[in-house]
Amino acid sequence: MISNIEVEKSSLLVNLKCPECGAEYDASAVHTICLNDACKSSLFARYDLSQYLDKAVLKDRPANMWRYHELLPVIDPKNIVTLGEGFTPIISLENLKDQAEGNEVFWKDESGNPTGSFKARGISMAVSKAKELGIIAIATPTAGNAGGALAAYAARAGIKAVVYMPKLTPQVFKDECRLYGADLLEIDGNISDCGRLINEDAVANGWFQISTLKEPYRLEGKKTLGFEIAEQFNWQLPNVILYPTGGGTGLIGIWKAFDELEQLGWIDSKRPRMVAVQSESCDGIVTAFLGGKHHSEFADGGFTIANGLRVPKPYADKIILKVLRDSRGTALTISDGEMNEAVKEVARTEGMLIAPEGAALWQAYKKLRAQQWIKPGERVLMINTGSGYKYLENIEI
Ligand SMILES: *Cc1c(COP(=O)(O)O)cnc(C)c1O
Ligand SMILES: [Zn+2]
Repeated sequence: MISNIEVEKSSLLVNLKCPECGAEYDASAVHTICLNDACKSSLFARYDLSQYLDKAVLKDRPANMWRYHELLPVIDPKNIVTLGEGFTPIISLENLKDQAEGNEVFWKDESGNPTGSFKARGISMAVSKAKELGIIAIATPTAGNAGGALAAYAARAGIKAVVYMPKLTPQVFKDECRLYGADLLEIDGNISDCGRLINEDAVANGWFQISTLKEPYRLEGKKTLGFEIAEQFNWQLPNVILYPTGGGTGLIGIWKAFDELEQLGWIDSKRPRMVAVQSESCDGIVTAFLGGKHHSEFADGGFTIANGLRVPKPYADKIILKVLRDSRGTALTISDGEMNEAVKEVARTEGMLIAPEGAALWQAYKKLRAQQWIKPGERVLMINTGSGYKYLENIEI
């Protein structure tokens, strides 16, 4: 039965707001970051959540992230550029249960998204919104998965895509960009170097940049992870969520989603403790969190098999750290060797070939459980952010 209280509007978007200085921006124009030089913060989309909206509206909607369209920023549904992203399964541990020490532990498995990672959510949203705003060329620096996703969604939308990627990224990430018709430049350096160079070229060529959290709508796509977690756990959030943190979009997005759901009255005020897991070679957030700092320092110890985690200085470091503290969470690092082990362990026991970024979470779980930071009986969710198939060239079997 279709609920007769379903709101007429496709989106309840109001405007964009700076979480730091409070400046507001008209969402019908193109924006990147806050124009106030004192903060230059990422901007957050705001919705009219005072509307009465019943959860029942979700019934019979398609199993993809667009089922939450009232809380998403695309105004005209004909601008939606979709390949079926989102509404990925929650899978409980089976043969690794014993090692979970009696806790209920789950994966949210993002590997089945288009182009094999959760980047599809953010990029689908950013490309849709870019289409709505009349943008004809999009550029992004990437550690791998965002580039492939942009290439695919831009192809679908008929928009030009330009991607700058570190040369050391596994070949499949480069090949997929070229196959989807993007212009790909391989850079001798890390994602920060890619960002600096693409910025110069984007200004010169008039490309719109969707670098992590310097564009407001990728966050809105990643946010749908939080909506799905709430809905799939029947509106009772888990106690702990483990997240492999690069630029932090998913972590911030999940937190924003919970906030919006509480304002709508769909969940109560109980929140999971959020845990940021980083690679040992790129540990800026962990160091800042443990040191009680409110921003991170540039940290790049070089190559890691978890290329998605090689982000030496996340643009939204302050917001990531705030979410970790507000949630009474924590942060820790995992080595490449441990990730490699976990990829193999999870494949062998659970039949899931997960990305090293996701595998890091299983090691993090075991450590936090052994330290009693995760307590007996707590429900824990790990976000497997991508498919392991794209990383095989760097995995020792
Ligand atoms: C990009 C990426 C991450 C990190 O995501 P952020 O939103 O940048 O923190 C984690 N895992 C995989 C597989 C990725 O592609
Ligand atoms: Zn501001």
